[in-house]
Amino acid sequence: MERTLSIIKPDGVKQAVIGEVIKRFEANGIRVAAMKMIHMTKEQAQGFYAVHKERPFFDSLTDFMCSGPCVPMVLEGDDVIAKNRELMGATNYKEAAEGTLRFDFASSIESNIVHGSDAPDTAAFEIGYFFNSFEIV
Ligand code: GDP
Repeated sequence: MERTLSIIKPDGVKQAVIGEVIKRFEANGIRVAAMKMIHMTKEQAQGFYAVHKERPFFDSLTDFMCSGPCVPMVLEGDDVIAKNRELMGATNYKEAAEGTLRFDFASSIESNIVHGSDAPDTAAFEIGYFFNSFEIV
């Protein structure tokens, strides 16, 4: 059993697709093990995306991530890191496969509605960034 971190980003919350995103997870055998709604500060967004701090889009990305509330979740299931990435679709929504969350709801390479950890080590860091062990059920 594997765990990963998902975030419904501010553009997903604004589009009112929280239920739709969770529905797709559950329909694909993924269990929500923790969930909350938060509104990040710029500093919190910078800490979360610290691996991207040298990227030209870092400032814009962290502004976007604190532009409104978002919904971090811990997802659990067999092979859930890869399964979640598959349901999300490619980072650039123009390259995302039909039927993926980003194909259906993203509006730019930045506003791409969901985040998902890409490996076990990043999943562990990212889950710990938002949740303590008592909040994961
Ligand atoms: P992910 O793992 O698919 O989310 O993609 P990355 O880890 O490469 O990038 C993190 C996030 O940064 C993406 O989900 C986008 O929101 C944003 N991003 C990635 N590439 C670009 C880019 O070229 N320009 C801008 N403005 N944002 C980007």
